[in-house]
Amino acid sequence: KRQQIVAGNWKMNKDLAEGKDLAKAVAAQKSASDVVLILGTPFIHLSAVSEIIDGTDNLHLSAQNCHQEESGAYTGEISASMLKSVGAEYVILGHSERREYFGEDEALLAKKVDIALAHGLIPIFCCGEKLDVREAENHVALVKEQLSGSVFHLSADAFGKIVIAYEPVWAIGTGRTASPEQAQEMHAAIREMISEQYGAEVAEATSILYGGSCKPGNAKEIFSQPDVDGGLIGGASLKAEDFVAIANSF
Ligand code: 13P
Repeated sequence: KRQQIVAGNWKMNKDLAEGKDLAKAVAAQKSASDVVLILGTPFIHLSAVSEIIDGTDNLHLSAQNCHQEESGAYTGEISASMLKSVGAEYVILGHSERREYFGEDEALLAKKVDIALAHGLIPIFCCGEKLDVREAENHVALVKEQLSGSVFHLSADAFGKIVIAYEPVWAIGTGRTASPEQAQEMHAAIREMISEQYGAEVAEATSILYGGSCKPGNAKEIFSQPDVDGGLIGGASLKAEDFVAIANSF
């Protein structure tokens, strides 16, 4: 059976001391041991959080972005190999905030996915539509474009390593979560797209996470959907009790 994953995306929150406290608090709480728990911290927290979670059995570390080139004159940027060197195992790519505020498009994200995989990082690849696209009922087609443009060039072997996160933009940070039915519809559609591209076996093995106003109060209902394999959590990942409660919602 595919992996159940709950990943926190801290976004641009917490200074180093606060981030270390949060990581320690998550590590101290009891979470279901068969759920993969991922902390997606700011770059500068990675080393310290890596040390804190070292030796825990189900806590893992993620970055929130990486640059698309190996190295070089890219002032202020961070490469995939640097992330790997400080203990990151995952990297969130294609988040709607990166697409919206930093102009990241499908072609650029394809490069980031490739370089992450080349350095042994597992991309958590985000897709999802804005409200107007959903209202026009083009949400499935839009997500298909996002996946086709950024991850469907991968070999079946490489694709088998990645995690997909469906995050409807209208549900992020708005308190308005997708209904379990809306999440299930899209997750099933994504699994079908993967199946068409790579076959049923790869599709069945791919973890597809839901993100967007996921909280302790709604996680159980969303995670109980057959094609929802966990969540990518923003706001609620900033409190250890909430994050672990979500992880215990399967
Ligand atoms: P919220 O959980 O704060 O809605 O954010 C979701 C998200 O963007 C996770 O990447």
